[in-house]
Amino acid sequence: MSDNLVNLNVNPCKMCMPMGAVTALYGIRGCMSILHGSQGCATYMRRHLATHFNEPIDIASSALTEQGTVFGGEANLLKGLSNLIELYHPEVIGVCTTCLAETIGEDTRAIINKFYEQNPGLAVKIIDVSSPGYGGTQNEGFFAAVRAVIEQVEPVELGQGHKGDGSFCVLEDAENSKIIENTKRTVPLVSSVSPDKGWINIITPMISPADTRWLKGFLRELGLDFILMPDLSDNLDGVTVKTYQRLKIGGTPLSEVARMAGAQLTVEFSEYTKPGESPAVFLNQAHGVPYVQLPLPMGIRGMDAFIEALQEQGGLVSDELLRARGRYLDAMVDGHKYCARARAAVFGEPDFVTATVRLCCENGIVPVIAATGSVCADLKPSIEAEIAACADISFAEKAEIRDDCDFDTIEKYCQELGANLMIGSSEGRRIARRLGIPLIRCAFPIHDHVGGQRVRTLGFDGSLNILDQVANAMLDKTSASFRTELYQKFYKDEVGAAS
Ligand code: SF4
Repeated sequence: MSDNLVNLNVNPCKMCMPMGAVTALYGIRGCMSILHGSQGCATYMRRHLATHFNEPIDIASSALTEQGTVFGGEANLLKGLSNLIELYHPEVIGVCTTCLAETIGEDTRAIINKFYEQNPGLAVKIIDVSSPGYGGTQNEGFFAAVRAVIEQVEPVELGQGHKGDGSFCVLEDAENSKIIENTKRTVPLVSSVSPDKGWINIITPMISPADTRWLKGFLRELGLDFILMPDLSDNLDGVTVKTYQRLKIGGTPLSEVARMAGAQLTVEFSEYTKPGESPAVFLNQAHGVPYVQLPLPMGIRGMDAFIEALQEQGGLVSDELLRARGRYLDAMVDGHKYCARARAAVFGEPDFVTATVRLCCENGIVPVIAATGSVCADLKPSIEAEIAACADISFAEKAEIRDDCDFDTIEKYCQELGANLMIGSSEGRRIARRLGIPLIRCAFPIHDHVGGQRVRTLGFDGSLNILDQVANAMLDKTSASFRTELYQKFYKDEVGAAS
């Protein structure tokens, strides 16, 4: 069947944009989200997030009905905002649009402005996020929310070049700084960064709370001050408390978001985010903050690139970090003879797929299928040569790289190309079951296992977590099948040939 004539019943290899947007907003302190659209969207997202993170998830909805769809949803959204403030007392509200709101052409910003007019003195920051479900995937929705928060929060440019007189320089680079005039502002001093020292912004895509905790610890280990945006580590992997808290207390405070404009560098973990959608590019264009877009820190090259970027900003590499790197290399050597048998189908968001494919190729695991549901024309050129070289060494005849892909297509290639392993979300479980191959669950969503919030993929430890699972899956396969294979090869076939 032509790529343009697909059966509409296929299972898309992606989640919709507002799913990513509400996830990112969970990483903002005191933030509550409301979806401007029908109730089903909020129910779908609550259900996915609750089962993956094993946390209660609250997402409000403007609950548009037929009437709102025809005459506009202003009244619903105004009422929804009032109710939300009364129940949750948030510091921040993220209003995310959905397919319906975007299709009927709602002017969400105008409705929010009207709400401010109706409620003078309101001390709640209301952010609007354009996230039509059909506009992209959860990854694009995630970055849209992060960028909207940064764009809509008043910046406080108190950077490394603070001059103490109300004006200061924002460092574009060491030699070339520029003076921003009349920037004297007061802000609440709730910050983990020291105004006397430079800091870096770290912008992540959707990573697990456990990986977020690792990232924060790693940056501290290198002695760097940083602002992490967003910070999912607490709100989506919380502690048990006696009284249920409607509004989670973790996340990046707006006071720190306001300081991002004064950072010495932004590190954005994304290779594919377009300039118009990138928070790092916005900070650069609006405030002169230099930036670097890095791959997710997975595998030896992903980690080395990250460490190198941090060293350039004054990060100190400890002996312990060098030992961790050495242990990872040692594990690569230990596991290569098992990993070399793996023919993996890697699927998910483009940055996850790219980082995982590179990790696979470093370890002789041939990614015979690399697939994303996102429309991402750059995916193929960025990993094609690497996969071809890996396949060549391992005598794999063919590999397929697909964007805008669904699970029907992934299953077809799994069969055609002899995949013996899947790496991605639990959405691949039906294919894995039908084909009798293992599935390593390490991406959102994970519905059929617990521990989605604790999945580790980043750093040397996280990479090792994936590597060990691949090696063990191959060992399990061998131990479950070698007797039958030997019997067939050296006894039954010979007996059959002789008789
Ligand atoms: S795809 Fe559109 S209608 Fe479906 S849940 Fe997402 S926003 Fe709602």
